[in-house]
Amino acid sequence: MIGVTVLGSTGSIGLSTLDVISQHSDKYRVVALTARKQVERLFQQCQQFRPQYAVMVDENAATQLEQRLKTAGISDITVLQGIAGLEKVASLDEVQQVMAAIVGAAGLRPTLSAARSGKRVLLANKEALVLSGQILIDEVKKNGAELLPIDSEHNAIFQCMPVNYHGDLRAQGVTKILLTASGGPFRTRSLAELHDVTPDQACAHPNWDMGRKISVDSASMMNKGLEVIEARWLFNASADDIQVVVHPQSVIHSMVQYADGSVLAQLGNPDMRTPIAHAMAWPERHTSGVAPLNLFEIARLDFETPDFERFPCLRLSYDALRRGGTATAILNAANEIAVEAFLEEKISFTSIPQIIEHTLEQVSIHDAQELAVILGDDEAARSIATEKVEEIKR
Ligand code: NAD
Ligand code: MG
Repeated sequence: MIGVTVLGSTGSIGLSTLDVISQHSDKYRVVALTARKQVERLFQQCQQFRPQYAVMVDENAATQLEQRLKTAGISDITVLQGIAGLEKVASLDEVQQVMAAIVGAAGLRPTLSAARSGKRVLLANKEALVLSGQILIDEVKKNGAELLPIDSEHNAIFQCMPVNYHGDLRAQGVTKILLTASGGPFRTRSLAELHDVTPDQACAHPNWDMGRKISVDSASMMNKGLEVIEARWLFNASADDIQVVVHPQSVIHSMVQYADGSVLAQLGNPDMRTPIAHAMAWPERHTSGVAPLNLFEIARLDFETPDFERFPCLRLSYDALRRGGTATAILNAANEIAVEAFLEEKISFTSIPQIIEHTLEQVSIHDAQELAVILGDDEAARSIATEKVEEIKR
C-alpha cells in the first residue's frame, strides 16, 4: 500500500485526489488530510478515509475538529495544527506520496518538507515553484525526491517530453514548449468591458471547475503567467522556450515541439483526475474515472495568439521571469493580495495588473538563493500591494 498525504484535501484538487484514491483503495492508503479551517468537510473526510492524522492550520478549527471526532467516537485520528503540523505530515515515514494542493504561497513550506524527506511530490501548488523554483528543485535532487506535475498543462508536457529527460531541451531535440491556455471566461471581451466584471463572472470558467483564487488567475491570464514560470523550473526551460497558445476548447493540454518537426500533444477531457491519476500511477497507468474523449463531439480545435494588451498579467509574468531572482516571488505575492481584494470587491478586475506592476516597481529584487530573502521580499510585496489596494479602493 502506498501511503498518501493530501495537503489541501478540502479544496478542488484535494477532492479530485480523494476521488481517485477511493477508486484504488487496494493501492493507496490516506495517512493524512489537511485543511485551513473547513472543519465540517475535513471531519467528513476523516470519517470516510480514516487517516492517522488530520491537520487544521487554524487553531480554533483544530479544537473544533478534535471535539467533533470525539463526539463521533473516533479516537484513532491525531489532530495537529499550524504549519508545523503540515510539515510533519508531509514528511512521515509511512508516507510515500504527498499531494501538494494548498493554494498560494502558504503551500511552500509543507511542499519543501515533502521534498526534503524524499517523497514523490505531486505538485498542484504552482505558487511554490514561482516563489522559490531553484530551492525546491535543488531539494528534490538532493534528497532523491520525485516532482511530478499535476497542473494539467505541465502534466501534459511531462507526458510529451523525451523519455528520461535530463534537463537539456536542445540536446534532447526539443525546440519549443507549447503551453496551451483556454483564455478563460473573458477571452473575447474588450479591455473596456473588463473593467466592470464581477468576482462571480471571473470564477465562471468555461471548461474547468476550480478554487476561486485560480479561477480569477485564469480570468486575468495570470494563471498562464504563473504556469510559464512553473514550466521554466520543471523543465529547465527559458522564457523564450515557452510559447503560450490560446486554445479555447481545453482539449489539448499542452504540446512539445521537436527539431524534426514533430509536435507531440496530450489530449483529454478537462478533468483534473487525469493528471492526478497519471502522476500517482507513473510510470504505470490506472483508471481515473474520467470519461473517454469523444473527438466527434468536440469536432474542432482552435488556436489563437495570446493578447498581452488585454491580459497584462501575462506580460508582467514573462518580464518577472526574465528579471529573475525574487521578481517572480514579488509578482506572486502582489497577485495574491490583488486577487483577494478583487474577490472581496474592494478593487476592479483591471486593478489587479496595476497593483502587481506597482509592487514590482517598488520592491527591490534580490538573488533568490535563500528562503529567508525570498520570504522577506514576499512580505515586502504584500505590504506594498496592500497599501496600493487601500489607495485605489473603490
Ligand atoms: P481551493 O481553494 O479549492 O483549495 C485550497 C486548499 O488549500 C483547501 O483545502 C484549503 O483548506 C487549503 N488552504 C487554503 N489556504 C491555506 C493556508 N493558508 N494554509 C494551509 N492550507 C490552506 O484551491 P484549488 O483550486 O484546489 O487549487 C489548489 C492548488 O492547485 C493551487 O495552487 C492551484 O493553482 C493549483 N491548481 C488547481 C487546479 C484546479 O483545477 N483546481 C488546476 C491546476 C492547478
Ligand atoms: Mg493549469
